[in-house]
Amino acid sequence: MNKFFYSCFFVVLCFLYDCTAPKQKTNGSLTPKNVILLIGDGTGLSQISAAFYYKKSPVNYARFQHIGLIKTSSSEQDITDSAASGTAFSCGEKTYNGAIGVRDDQSELTNLTELAAQHAVKIGLVATSSITHATPASFYAHVLDRDMQEEIAQQMPRSKVDFFAGGGLKFFKDRSDGINLLSELESNNFNIDTLGLQPLDAVKSNTKQGYLLAHDGMPKILESRGDFLPQATVQAIQFLHQNDAPFFLMSEGSQIDWAGHDNFSDYLITELIDFDETIGKVLDFAEKDGETLVVVTADHETGGFTLAGENYINKEGKVYSSYSRLEPKFSTKGHSAALVPVFAFGPGAELFNGVYENTEVFHKIIELTGWGGM
Ligand code: MG
Ligand code: ZN
Repeated sequence: MNKFFYSCFFVVLCFLYDCTAPKQKTNGSLTPKNVILLIGDGTGLSQISAAFYYKKSPVNYARFQHIGLIKTSSSEQDITDSAASGTAFSCGEKTYNGAIGVRDDQSELTNLTELAAQHAVKIGLVATSSITHATPASFYAHVLDRDMQEEIAQQMPRSKVDFFAGGGLKFFKDRSDGINLLSELESNNFNIDTLGLQPLDAVKSNTKQGYLLAHDGMPKILESRGDFLPQATVQAIQFLHQNDAPFFLMSEGSQIDWAGHDNFSDYLITELIDFDETIGKVLDFAEKDGETLVVVTADHETGGFTLAGENYINKEGKVYSSYSRLEPKFSTKGHSAALVPVFAFGPGAELFNGVYENTEVFHKIIELTGWGGM
């Protein structure tokens, strides 16, 4: 009798739950309607740790409950570049360094935005590099080498992208072939702005929106970029999510990597804090929305960055490392092979716990959203 009562109670509970909760998947995960992938280029654990020592306000990385680690190696090399790792995220396959959306044999892969668009998902890309740079390019272009930025730009007008913001005007306007891709973007329903982010009301009615706000990469935070990355990311969400449409947004803190290559810690820390602010804006939205999966990761670590203590020489002339004063250091001008963290929030976030290959980020997103099949 007791057993029967509890069974009935359980059935009623399940029914009530089903009425209010997002759709339940057979594996126990929830199905996200929207996905926001935030890539901190070159952001290893030491870079993230820097936020906890140098940021004056609360660190948004600390808001995640679900954390994993990915191995970033490309198909051919232990140390990946941003093209192979961007392609791992966007297409779910390991490829050679330099490859954008193509396999080892140079054949084209189908990417996440092409798959999602078949399900009427709106697509957005934001970067602090040129929008034709390796990381964002991996989400809409297919070229044999990342340096083919004019060719990458040429693939934007007919891509599945509905909103983009970043630099790279010269690859659209001052091209070696003389073609003006801005008019081609406009004839493909894009409104293009080269001056600055406009109020949302001014862009809302456009079918598609593109911002090209620098000749090549956007300025550094240390120069004059301001809050472009968090603001463009927020506008992308608002633009894509009009009329409650499902959306996929990739937003990149591109220059954390560049600071690592330059072995310039103030540059790195200011770019990292800007990225953390962007994470905060995205989590604020996702917490309210309840149907958005947020994944924050990096394509690889750059610079072999460490939060070392400042060196000092004692009375006997011996070199010691201070444990009370930090002096960040670098061990390389390039990338490193260190595993990098993945942070996830929202429906299905627990699927991102564990240690796995970078290509799994793609497969987990597809598994949760169902964007792979028609
Ligand atoms: Mg990048
Ligand atoms: Zn790099």
